[in-house]
Amino acid sequence: MIFISSITSKEKAVDYNKMIICPRCEAYGQVNLSYTYTSLSLFFIPVFKWNKEYYVNMGCCHGIFSLGKDLGEKIEKKKSVEIWAEDLIDLNIEMQVKTCSSCGKQVAYEYNYCPHCGRRI
Ligand SMILES: [Zn+2]
Ligand SMILES: [Zn+2]
Repeated sequence: MIFISSITSKEKAVDYNKMIICPRCEAYGQVNLSYTYTSLSLFFIPVFKWNKEYYVNMGCCHGIFSLGKDLGEKIEKKKSVEIWAEDLIDLNIEMQVKTCSSCGKQVAYEYNYCPHCGRRI
């Protein structure tokens, strides 16, 4: 019997809508929250996930910020917590973006599939 397994890095958008004053460019910008994780797949079915990390891409300047895991998980579980500018750790990188032709949202340049609607870009 042959096992087909693969380890991949994935990204998923978290449904969260909030505008804050951006700590980097000081504009009033949309917080786009997503998380990345490493996934082990067996026969193309994800069986194990680890290395979950949350980050925020600001809609104003596309600055990328890291967000604490506790806070990220609470927001993902729809607990009544909010992201504030103080929670964001500036990673000093910018996202290269392109626009999804299906839903119109901006996604990272390197992605072939939209993390918002799942369509191929
Ligand atoms: Zn900004
Ligand atoms: Zn889309």
